[in-house]
Amino acid sequence: MPFAYDDQNIFAKILRGEIPNDTVLETQHTLAFRDIHPQAPDHVLVIPKGPYATYDHFALAASDEEIVDFTRTLGEVARAVGAQPSEAGGGFRLISNAGEDAVQEVPHMHVHLVAGRPLGRILQPA
Ligand code: AMP
Repeated sequence: MPFAYDDQNIFAKILRGEIPNDTVLETQHTLAFRDIHPQAPDHVLVIPKGPYATYDHFALAASDEEIVDFTRTLGEVARAVGAQPSEAGGGFRLISNAGEDAVQEVPHMHVHLVAGRPLGRILQPA
């Protein structure tokens, strides 16, 4: 049974303007804002404005327009924080936790963009 979308989650409250956020970029379908507990010098959460609980929910249920907007905004965020990979270094990592095994804390689909320091390998042993 997939997650039902809970419109009382904290990101839904941010989208309704009930809780402040540190916006990096906003478009018609997407909001990008800084994580309140950053794990790297740049740690931005990119979320669709629509009511999607997990990445797979978004990928399978969102419109093409929403998906294109989301994907392009992620690319713009990487540029906006100066994290685009180049011959001089740099780079970033994208993470989307979905469900219990991934310890998803906020049940509104989001992608973490982390950057600004060497990030090590993707996973530690369980
Ligand atoms: P996840 O474990 O993937 O669901 O990550 C949820 C993220 O949301 C965590 O990194 C939190 O630090 C972040 N977070 C929770 N509340 C807020 C908030 N009000 N503003 C910004 N980030 C938040």
